[in-house]
Amino acid sequence: MSETNQRYDVVVIGGGAAGLSGALALARARRSVLVIDSGSPRNAPASHVHNYLGREGTPPSELLAIGRAEAADYGAEIVRGDAVSAERLPDGFRVVRGDGGVVRARHLLVTTGLVDELPPVEGLAERWGREVLHCPYCHGWEVRDTAVGVLALSPMAVHQALLWRQWTDDVVLFRHEQADFGDEEYEQLAARGISVLDGAVASLEVADDRLTGVRLAGGTVIPLAALVVQPRFTARSAVLESLGLVPTEMVVGDHVVGTYIAADPAGATDVPGVRVAGNVANLMEQVVGSAAAGLKAASMINMDLVTEDTGRAVDARRAPFSAEAERQVTERVLGDRRHGLTEAR
Ligand SMILES: Cc1cc2nc3c(=O)[nH]c(=O)nc-3n(C[C@H](O)[C@H](O)[C@H](O)COP(=O)(O)OP(=O)(O)OC[C@H]3O[C@@H](n4cnc5c(N)ncnc54)[C@H](O)[C@@H]3O)c2cc1C
Repeated sequence: MSETNQRYDVVVIGGGAAGLSGALALARARRSVLVIDSGSPRNAPASHVHNYLGREGTPPSELLAIGRAEAADYGAEIVRGDAVSAERLPDGFRVVRGDGGVVRARHLLVTTGLVDELPPVEGLAERWGREVLHCPYCHGWEVRDTAVGVLALSPMAVHQALLWRQWTDDVVLFRHEQADFGDEEYEQLAARGISVLDGAVASLEVADDRLTGVRLAGGTVIPLAALVVQPRFTARSAVLESLGLVPTEMVVGDHVVGTYIAADPAGATDVPGVRVAGNVANLMEQVVGSAAAGLKAASMINMDLVTEDTGRAVDARRAPFSAEAERQVTERVLGDRRHGLTEAR
């Protein structure tokens, strides 16, 4: 294992929107920053990033390449690889990388994102981010006015179907393996013209590398342009767990939608010196919100470092004063004694 003496002000673990935005702010604050990034941002399967003001419709890899270049321009170092664990030291942290290398940091910003755990339907994972979708703000416009199916995986599916109805009037809700809905929900769905189909979805139908529909367990094929699912959002929290942090379950109604690492609004976790931002801390955050959270956490890290630096400077300033004060007191005491001895003679 190679371990250098180099110690960064901040090591950022995860170089997506949150991490790069944090790195940019820290580098501009004249902090030494290392970003360790394994290179698989959550939206990698999508062709474009939407609702990112000023960069609407940019491919995800392009947006991050721009972010890396901007942070690097101010001196941030960015390396490809993963961090596997971190350890708290008296004066900061030690981060162990997957290649066995070790780096040290005064503070950590962890922005490792989340994993979308998809339902085990044949052919579904392969279409994720293309025609298998979850977020209407990310993809709704692109599939507007087409046939959209919603796969019920939790009671939230009714809410999802009503939401997607905003983008198309052709929405069908597959009850799949979900228990029956309530009367009020059926009324809402009917009022918005959303039909409900019983029976499990067995597989996806694809032609010319495009989704064409879904096949029900009974063999019926329903033509569709897109299928909406609700993945389970699981925080990528291994490094944070190695520091003793425990993921919290996010519950909507009675349903667990995922896990996240709890933090205050500026990303401070229960481990002093460790802040989090983006999807690892907030499962609903989109790209622009993740970038904003990275900036906020970074500015608080800089403030924490300013406070530490100031404390050290005050101690250093006091230290020579104490030595001088001690010398003066000693001289005075010895002088008094000498004076007393002279008088006694
Ligand atoms: C299919 C899809 C499409 C989407 N489209 C949009 C959209 O159009 N607009 C929008 O605003 N949002 C969209 N989103 C949401 C968007 O992906 C997230 O909001 C955003 O990626 C969160 O940024 P982040 O920095 O928190 O995490 P990520 O972007 O996931 O970045 C985390 C980074 O950390 C790295 N990493 C993880 N673990 C480690 C480790 N141990 N060591 C080192 N590196 C590590 C990963 O490789 C990754 O590069 C979409 C999501 C999906 C799934």
